[in-house]
Amino acid sequence: MSDDKGPPLTLDSPVSDVDRRLANRRTGVRTKGPPASQVLADAFGIDSVGHLLRHYPRRYIDRSATVPVGELRFRQGQQVTVIGRVKRVDRRLTRRRQSMVTVKLYDGTGTLDLVFFNQPWTASTYREGLELAVSGQAAVYRGRLQLANQEVEVLRGDEAETVHTGRITPIHRAAEGISTRTIRELVHGALERLPPIDDPLPPDLVAEEALESEDFSLRAVHFPEDPQSLQRATDRLKFDELFALELGVAYRKRRVERTEKGVVHASEGQASGAYVAGLPFELTQAQRRTIKEVGEDMAAPRPMNRLLQGDVGSGKTVVALYAALVAVQSGHQATIMAPTEVLAGQHFRTARSLLASVGGRDLLSMKAGARVGDQPSLLDGLGQEEPEGDRLTFALLTAGVTGKDRQRVMEGIREGTVDLLIGTHALVQEGVEFADLTVAVIDEQHRFGVHQRVVLKEKGVHPDMLIMTATPIPRTLALTYYGDLDVSTLDEMPAGRRPVATTVVRSAAERLQAYERVREEVAGGRQAFVVCAAIDEANRLEVRAAEKEAERLAREVFPDLRLELLHGRMRPAEKEAVMDRFRVGEADVLISTTVIEVGVDVPNATVMLVENAERFGLAQLHQLRGRIGRGDHPSYCILFDESHPDNAEARARLDAIARTTDGFALADEDLRLRGEGTLFDVRQSGMPDLKLARLADDVDLVRRARARAFATVDGDPGLDRHPELLELLRHSFSGEAIEWLFHS
Ligand code: ADP
Ligand code: MG
Repeated sequence: MSDDKGPPLTLDSPVSDVDRRLANRRTGVRTKGPPASQVLADAFGIDSVGHLLRHYPRRYIDRSATVPVGELRFRQGQQVTVIGRVKRVDRRLTRRRQSMVTVKLYDGTGTLDLVFFNQPWTASTYREGLELAVSGQAAVYRGRLQLANQEVEVLRGDEAETVHTGRITPIHRAAEGISTRTIRELVHGALERLPPIDDPLPPDLVAEEALESEDFSLRAVHFPEDPQSLQRATDRLKFDELFALELGVAYRKRRVERTEKGVVHASEGQASGAYVAGLPFELTQAQRRTIKEVGEDMAAPRPMNRLLQGDVGSGKTVVALYAALVAVQSGHQATIMAPTEVLAGQHFRTARSLLASVGGRDLLSMKAGARVGDQPSLLDGLGQEEPEGDRLTFALLTAGVTGKDRQRVMEGIREGTVDLLIGTHALVQEGVEFADLTVAVIDEQHRFGVHQRVVLKEKGVHPDMLIMTATPIPRTLALTYYGDLDVSTLDEMPAGRRPVATTVVRSAAERLQAYERVREEVAGGRQAFVVCAAIDEANRLEVRAAEKEAERLAREVFPDLRLELLHGRMRPAEKEAVMDRFRVGEADVLISTTVIEVGVDVPNATVMLVENAERFGLAQLHQLRGRIGRGDHPSYCILFDESHPDNAEARARLDAIARTTDGFALADEDLRLRGEGTLFDVRQSGMPDLKLARLADDVDLVRRARARAFATVDGDPGLDRHPELLELLRHSFSGEAIEWLFHS
């Protein structure tokens, strides 16, 4: 289309070099907007031909796969494309005075109505006589055919031809000021003038994996000849994405292992042995295996970087305390960090009970003894009174520990008289200096990013790190974004756990039954949780705020029961008091925000009601449910679904949680429903983001890319013989992830 071909393009050429006329094209209101090339830069960050080619089509119109209107009735529920000509356009106002445009599309076999609400401009966009390609889900609504979530493309002159001649037409994501058509023409022009595109991967790897060439794939992903070549091209480009990610992961993992000297701990000591022997229960097989893995890591001369994943209640804290003991019996310090005050308190209580058998005791429960006038130096005296080795001193550091107590704890840590510190992430990370920290256990409520991993390490000299997560991580995620960590999995529940029966409530009658269930359980001596989504009514319409809900329940539903309210804005001491009353059975029902999501261990609680359950993610709901079913009684989780009946995603999510109690199955489902982008902020962390690959679906490609990446790094740890791969890392990773990759 350009007559002046100019010099050959490279991937670094500016987009305007592709075709000046196209790049300057203006669309939008009276064509006063910025030129296309500017829009590309602003909207998508595309400023070179290379970037342009990575702007992959978001879908395709495949003429050979289109369906005649006459057949739609038999394709209900399927994703289909229909191509036809506009026969008539009607505009009218609905009774609610909304604009409604109906476009009648005819393809020789039948007529399909496309309906647009509140988009009056569609009447002129889809004029009579134009040819349209419409994709969507075939459905019959009130006796009429329609395509749900329809997407419409106008096929103009030449496009209609290419489509008619059997070509697959790419639809690129457009933006205000640039049409998908202009983008398509730019990409087409660029590919015509680019010499063969270099392959970023070593030729032997490409051959052994039987991948298509980069040149073929970049061309075919935009303009495929047929569905098979599109598939092959996409696989190749997905492999590239996953390989870059895995290469980074492998590089970082091996670099850390090679260069960082860790502390060699004595994993088979007196204290850890006595601890395991003194536990009031049998360890599960999974706990034994994990304890062994942790012990081996800690005894090795390189730092541990281990992820411990296990469902709520699978017994992670037992393992965490073991790791702490290994550090302490080797003469060092340990810390266990939790995301919330409540959870830190819970770990602290667990420590108090499980460490008693090895002489563990709380710093603050010890008489300050010779301490006069709180002279810090006198703490040393304390240490001398109590011979080292016999004692294990632990302490809690939360916002609730204040004044002199706080001072004592801080000094104990700094001077090494506190062996194990349990606290919240925020406090431990920001406020504390350790004398000799060699193991840090991080208990994470949610999924964590690169940032946390980098910050934490700075607290000790290459401390061993054990990251615990109660949100099981889908396998593919553990192999990719967390792929530099070694993984232990507690995939077995302690004996005697009863699965929780989960139901979803959508009607008023069912709601009453749910309240009846609470009553019955309380009458039988049990307790119940009611969880609400937020603490005030900032989101007035839908959220049943905990405070309002507590009032309502007290007044209208359970006037005769003992209710307590717990929310995140209460002072730590208040929270503790409420939790204590509930724990000892002085309250029947605890109404709370998600503060209780983690850390509450009240085996007598057997009912969990969740208001506006549709507002919670799968992982969160699973966490909440894990709060019950901890005792000997059958337990019930009841989810109130207030979502709109059309909200298929919410329905799918709640049905999934009702269907299974397997956290790992739910994690996979979560990934499938939400996609990787939402798991944590990939972009912000600077990890490469995946444009084509889908972790939930591309398990096989993940494994292949991972195996190749590790083989490459193991054969050439510094990538000295693969400068092009080092370069690949430099431009695939950015920001904090660069630090993580090369330095920290
Ligand atoms: P998690 O942190 O994985 O949710 P916890 O470590 O808090 O689980 O353990 C939950 C409860 O189960 C605690 O009361 C703990 O003492 C108990 N527990 C842990 N391991 C076992 C086991 N092997 N047998 C019986 N009870 C156990
Ligand atoms: Mg726990």
